Amino acid sequence: MPCIAARRLTPGTGREGGGGFDAAARRRIEETLRRGDDLRCPDCDTLLVGRRLDAPPGVSYVRHRILIICPACHRSGGFDART
Ligand SMILES: [Zn+2]
Repeated sequence: MPCIAARRLTPGTGREGGGGFDAAARRRIEETLRRGDDLRCPDCDTLLVGRRLDAPPGVSYVRHRILIICPACHRSGGFDART
């Protein structure tokens, strides 16, 4: 199994159980976000859950981000919210 660490975009929660999405999975999720379609896990086809992340106070360059989580395999990753 390739050991490519996904960029950790979640600010220090350390609670992403199943690890991050790999690059191909991230690309698919980003495309789906852009289209506004239902998000499905690239690995197990479960409907993904999105949670809005609040920017830390005083960090104005952080845009709205969404933490996307798969409730089945517990992969997760942070994505830019297109709002
Ligand atoms: Zn999954």
